[in-house]
Amino acid sequence: MVTVNEAKQRIIANSNTLPTVTVPLEKAGGGFLAKDVIAPIALPPFRQSSMDGYAIVHSDITQPGTELRLVGESKAGQVDLPVVNIGLAARIFTGAPVPDGATAVVMQENTSAADGIVMINEFPVPDGKNIRRVGQQIAAGAVALPAGTLVSPGAIGFLKGMDVNAVTVYSKPRIGLLVTGDELLKSGESLRPGKIYESNSAMLKAALNQIGIDSVTISYASDELHATIEALKALLEENDVVLASGGISVGDYDFVGKALEALGAETIFYKVRQKPGKPLLFGKKKEKLIFALPGNPASSLVCYYEYVLPALQKIMGSKEPFLRSVQLPIRHAYRFDGERDEFLKARVEGNEVVSLDGQESFVIGSFAIANALIYLPVSQNQVAVGELVEVHLLPV
Ligand code: AMP
Ligand code: MG
Repeated sequence: MVTVNEAKQRIIANSNTLPTVTVPLEKAGGGFLAKDVIAPIALPPFRQSSMDGYAIVHSDITQPGTELRLVGESKAGQVDLPVVNIGLAARIFTGAPVPDGATAVVMQENTSAADGIVMINEFPVPDGKNIRRVGQQIAAGAVALPAGTLVSPGAIGFLKGMDVNAVTVYSKPRIGLLVTGDELLKSGESLRPGKIYESNSAMLKAALNQIGIDSVTISYASDELHATIEALKALLEENDVVLASGGISVGDYDFVGKALEALGAETIFYKVRQKPGKPLLFGKKKEKLIFALPGNPASSLVCYYEYVLPALQKIMGSKEPFLRSVQLPIRHAYRFDGERDEFLKARVEGNEVVSLDGQESFVIGSFAIANALIYLPVSQNQVAVGELVEVHLLPV
């Protein structure tokens, strides 16, 4: 049995970032940049108007009501432009190139135009007003996004705007998921005595999808040594990380530990001083990581968030933690006995955290409305109302 901290340290020490791949930008979403992306062009690439209005020479405006002669217009995408010299103005629209000579754009709400003359009802007009400078967003040759950045929708929009169409990211891990338990029914089967519907695989797959992992292969094994060995063997061959659900306790029909042993996997730890999720096993076979998660749905999910997620963060090359930790005051007092640290399903509401009803490890309904876990080490087994506690925010 190891402590929570020891378990986390050993997992990080044994997790390695996967090799990099260069992929089309459209396929890179949810991945993490393995190299800095250098801006191939400046953004904006030319002086742009940020308003519908009139391009002018700002020093022409010496008092409100100054009149200027119109010399033409500049609309978005236009190539042939008038030149705005002293005493002149050009009609201009948002995103259009600012004509040579113009030093500011006055928004049309502050003007009135008739008969080829525009009156500027604004004073003073600062140099550069309503003009987006070349490279104001990013200069050509500058680091647009540093390595480790998530390829988010925003990042894709930014890079597309510079015609960057491929990026180098860390490979995403392929995950194998083994479901054990003779009591488990697949969806659609009719409920029979002694049986329950299998839910951990869909739950864990959803959690993996949420952080951008799409390659999830699910296998099922009966509670029997040979079947468990065969299923684990196949999953280990095809995947980077294998998660097993159930069959890791000390019951006569728990075969995951024995199967891993038979396959020559190294056990890095078995059992963590925590509640829920004590029977967690973490192991390795060559570079492949194995997490054997307890079958109780809430234990499975707590172990996923607390142990699998930090490993995936390192494997995927993310600079930011997937599970963010903050200190918040707790709404209600809480105490517990025993020698194990506790993880409580919780909700962050406003500036405080609420521990939810239904903390037993078979109860998953509380998880359905949780957005956080409270971590209470044994040294903090009695918390008063308003006391600061460590809160782990679940990915959304
Ligand atoms: P185990 O870890 O195999 O001893 O299972 C612990 C508890 O979790 C038992 O009540 C199981 O029926 C339940 N359980 C195990 N696997 C699943 C699963 N995939 N979906 C739902 N419940 C499960
Ligand atoms: Mg079982």
